[in-house]
Amino acid sequence: QVTVADSYDVVVVGSGAGAMSAAIFAADQEMKVLIVEKSDKYGGTSALSGGGIWIPNNHYFKAMGGDDSYDKALTYLKASTGGGVDEKRLHAYLDNAPKMMQYLEDNTRLHYTVAEKYPDYYPQLPGAMSGGRTLDPELFDTAELGDEVENLRPASPTTLLMGKIAWTARHAHKAMAKERGWRLMILWLMLRYKLDFSWRRKSRRDRRSALGNALVASLRCSLLDRKVPLWLNTDFKQLIETDGRISGLVVERNGSHQIINVRHGVILGSGGFEQSQTLRDKYLPQPTQVSWSATPPGNNTGAALEAGQALGAATDLLDWAWWAPTINVPREDKARGVFAERAFPGAIVVNGQGKRFVNEAAPYLEFVDAMYKDNERSGGKSIPAWVIFDGHFRFNYAMGPLMPSQIMPDSRLPKAWHQTVYWKADSLEALAGQIDVDAAGLQDTVGRINGFAASGKDEDFQRGGNVFDRYYGDSNVKPNPCLAPIKKGPFYAMRLNAGDIGTKGGLLTNERGCVVREDGSEIEGLYAIGNCSASVMGTSYPGAGSTLGPAMTFGYIAVNDLVRQR
Ligand code: FAD
Repeated sequence: QVTVADSYDVVVVGSGAGAMSAAIFAADQEMKVLIVEKSDKYGGTSALSGGGIWIPNNHYFKAMGGDDSYDKALTYLKASTGGGVDEKRLHAYLDNAPKMMQYLEDNTRLHYTVAEKYPDYYPQLPGAMSGGRTLDPELFDTAELGDEVENLRPASPTTLLMGKIAWTARHAHKAMAKERGWRLMILWLMLRYKLDFSWRRKSRRDRRSALGNALVASLRCSLLDRKVPLWLNTDFKQLIETDGRISGLVVERNGSHQIINVRHGVILGSGGFEQSQTLRDKYLPQPTQVSWSATPPGNNTGAALEAGQALGAATDLLDWAWWAPTINVPREDKARGVFAERAFPGAIVVNGQGKRFVNEAAPYLEFVDAMYKDNERSGGKSIPAWVIFDGHFRFNYAMGPLMPSQIMPDSRLPKAWHQTVYWKADSLEALAGQIDVDAAGLQDTVGRINGFAASGKDEDFQRGGNVFDRYYGDSNVKPNPCLAPIKKGPFYAMRLNAGDIGTKGGLLTNERGCVVREDGSEIEGLYAIGNCSASVMGTSYPGAGSTLGPAMTFGYIAVNDLVRQR
């Protein structure tokens, strides 16, 4: 049974940060907007994310006297994307990202601050900056959402201090790098949480949200201010094209199919295809598993990609994801990304031959790309890869779900984690035997890294050799904050999968955000943003926030185009 719903000027599919920003921009242009969301919660992966956005030449940094510029950012983007992306799209991004940010800051409840010390991911490239382009959301008081807080996809406990207290990326970095005053800062955050008596009576959740949860909550609140409807449990199925132009879409809602007619256009923002094993097998390098993805289960299954393809849309980068090594933890519904810990001194990553194959502190995209390359070279020995560390590391640093043993000793770890999440032995040889890694190779590698730790120079992979590696290093460890010896038993291993935080290929769009066919002609009235579109970053990850920044910016670009066409 098919029913016809109301018509709208614009329908936005999905409720990630890009989609919700686009709906705000459209509503502010006097357009009648609807958001449709498949899940029973809004926010998508964006709500679980770090919420960082990479906005070169932004107004926050300028106000601090920062020395970024359009030309510098263009030089860097061209170098990092290596000619793989149409330059017009790079210009569109750099032109619009700062304007988009200024608009949201001036007109909505969303507020950001510069993560001053967060460097671009490729510091060796021309135009790179050692900070100033990545923005970190301010904490947001979710009481402002009223009852709508119940529909907000909750943050992952892994992104909260002690699994429950909201903290910004700047707080987390200060604690991880053990910068001066970090203990006091943690005490203050804990006290603020505990002393919030009125909220404590209502919920264990912190009143404040942080990171991606703050981003999504403040956008949702801004949409409530504008009375923009958001339909949950509404599954987008198909686009309707009339005379070469998008005139509507079909959704499944309350058990029936509904047609929603649109006057100006549809903005697809329904995420990538990382949750579809069929599409992973079809497009991504092998081996690959849905369970290795750190994104929420079940929703991002490539609906936008398939609907666009059905109308002859061109695609790009389908064999790429926003790679990140992940660890699976029993009874958790999604994998955990291992972003920072790889740079901590005293942990190395080896393949089945016991050999290192990459700078462990490398950006997560490059890290997993190296896993695939080494897996190919070694005949299947690098997926999974193994993180190896010793008792000293275990005492002092976190790795995945293992908090430092000074806080969480092995005796307090869930029993089910032993030999699923971590392996432990008194000698490296015994450890290698447990995980089926070549023992002589591992001994040899550890001997070599211990030498590098003493000299401060990683002669094989230059770990700790640039400002990005050192961002997550331990500033108290000398001479290289990313290198320490592995020598004090017991020894530990953890399994790393070739995971992701979303796919990065999808419908090809032009510099106006419009979906194009193979011949470059536009599918009129159809726009794609976020991970259902082919990333403007090509195969690169120029800085923290390179997925959300473009999703929100191309939402801004798409709406401006709709306004011009109106
Ligand atoms: P999503 O945010 O996943 O939103 C897609 C929405 O569409 C979902 O709500 C989904 O339910 C809905 N949907 C899917 N199919 C349909 C359908 N058929 N009908 C209707 N709705 C549908 N990126 C950054 O830039 N900065 C960071 O700091 C950062 N940190 C991260 C940390 C973690 C732990 C993870 C997992 C990811 C992180 N990322 C970060 C990546 C980033 O979160 C994603 O790339 C981004 O959220 C993708 O945005 P999106 O809008 O395309 O998809």
